Amino acid sequence: SSSPELFHRARRLKSGAFTWVRPEERKAYKFLTASPSALKDLGFDPETEVKDDGFQKLVSGQTVIEDPFPYSQAYAGYQFGDFAGQLGDGRVVNLFEVTNPETGKRFELQLKGAGRTPFSRFADGKAVLRSSIREFIVAESLHAIGIPSTRALAITVLPKTFAKRSGPEKCAIVCRMAPSWVRVGTFDLYRYRGDRQGLIQLSNYVIDEVFKDELCLKYADVINRETKELGTLTKYDKLYFEIITRNAESVAFWQAYCFLNGVLNSDNTSVLGLAIDFGPFAFMDYFDPNYTSNHDDLLLRYSFKNTPSAIWFNMVKLGEDLAELIGAGPDLLKDEFFIEKGLKEEWVDKVTERAKKVIEVGADIYESVYVETYMKLVCDRLGITPKSTDNAGILNNLFETLQETKLDYNNFFAILQEQPIQDDSKFDIDIVASAFIPKDFKDDPFTDYTKEKVLKELKIFLTDFKARVGEEQLTDQERYRKASKLNPLFVPRNWILDEVIDYTQENDFDTLYLNKLLKMSSNPFDKSKWGEELKDVEDRWTSSANRER
Ligand code: AMP
Ligand code: MG
Ligand code: MG
Repeated sequence: SSSPELFHRARRLKSGAFTWVRPEERKAYKFLTASPSALKDLGFDPETEVKDDGFQKLVSGQTVIEDPFPYSQAYAGYQFGDFAGQLGDGRVVNLFEVTNPETGKRFELQLKGAGRTPFSRFADGKAVLRSSIREFIVAESLHAIGIPSTRALAITVLPKTFAKRSGPEKCAIVCRMAPSWVRVGTFDLYRYRGDRQGLIQLSNYVIDEVFKDELCLKYADVINRETKELGTLTKYDKLYFEIITRNAESVAFWQAYCFLNGVLNSDNTSVLGLAIDFGPFAFMDYFDPNYTSNHDDLLLRYSFKNTPSAIWFNMVKLGEDLAELIGAGPDLLKDEFFIEKGLKEEWVDKVTERAKKVIEVGADIYESVYVETYMKLVCDRLGITPKSTDNAGILNNLFETLQETKLDYNNFFAILQEQPIQDDSKFDIDIVASAFIPKDFKDDPFTDYTKEKVLKELKIFLTDFKARVGEEQLTDQERYRKASKLNPLFVPRNWILDEVIDYTQENDFDTLYLNKLLKMSSNPFDKSKWGEELKDVEDRWTSSANRER
């Protein structure tokens, strides 16, 4: 129907994975800024495009192209362990795709905060400025660090649109982009409906269009090793294992940088393993396995220590969604009856057994890829080469030191890479240890947490670390070259985001702070790109003062 109201009314979708939706019209729009890095990745000139009126109107939802017509995607999902029924883009409208002519990389663009859709259920379809700035910045930060993430292209404030949260809050729109927005929850939806043909169609779409037939290449050695007992792999087995390896790798990144999404429901788990849907996320300040960035997560389901198992839970749900297809094996997949109608009674046991085995093998693949990638990332961040005994050795020592000293996690690596360790003519353990102590360090009068204790712990680690560096005959320059490619000199912490949000709201949407934060977040390894403005602010944002304790 062309009735504008119908576009936005909540309803249950009986088949298919999307519905046409127009962004809701708003009274006023004010374009704030765009990410130069995202513009470049689309193939645009960041300098000119950001000022282009046509571009600003598109990414803010003011101009709507009707060919292709915008749409919202349906999905379902397991939220905090329980099935939640039909969900979908409740405040997101997809626009169109852009393929960078030089790189051939394709991105699907969407607007978050674009108004109600058939999937809004009882919610308002709005995104507040606060959460929009958070998503805009963190997506670009993660990507720049090298962590697989959906991207943010632009942000627009809606000065006359308010959402009721704890009080009235100003709204905004983020234009975001990803090669695909298909989630585990998209597969959950088809299982929920019992739509077998739809599931086959979705799986084939993801194989052909999202992965472009490039399945199971990156971790071929792990997959070959773990899948021997399965015999020949079908394209659905490979699809499942590809989604598993991507997610295992991403979890390793999150853990190695202590990044927490906060809500790892299956509808927030991308088949590409991209960090997606940023709500109560955080970079952990100091290492604490029980830390959760989600204040409502009382059971610690999405805490640091439970993150690998939370994503594995979603991979099991995906395996169950795909059970018939991964259970079929190569012979049944050639059977016309199976493809068109489904299981004959006599096939059920065999298919069930194979599906279970594929999921079990998937668990081994998940663990191998996760452990291997995580160890490598942490060792690379230290500048050393991983070896099999590291878990009980240097890494154990590292995490004990981090936990005992409560030093800022990400800053620790950046400080360590600068220190002379191997060069005996420059190494002085007292000087090196004090380089880690924040300027504003205060002893805690109620516990034994003192500067003296922190220095003592640091020296234990540094002694061990020096021995390891010596063993590898790593010069300080070699170690720096390796580590500095992985250690961001800046990560957007929550208190910094709060400061920028408050400044932006209180100063009539002035973008001075927002653009400074964007520069620092998009160039985490290169201070020369942070600009000459707000140097005092920059100092505060990079020091470990002000952090939550
Ligand atoms: P989340 O927990 O953010 O992943 O959201 C879960 C579901 O609620 C998704 O289907 C969202 O699209 C939907 N949702 C969240 N916030 C809103 C909102 N303000 N308006 C409409 N739908 C929303
Ligand atoms: Mg979500
Ligand atoms: Mg969300």
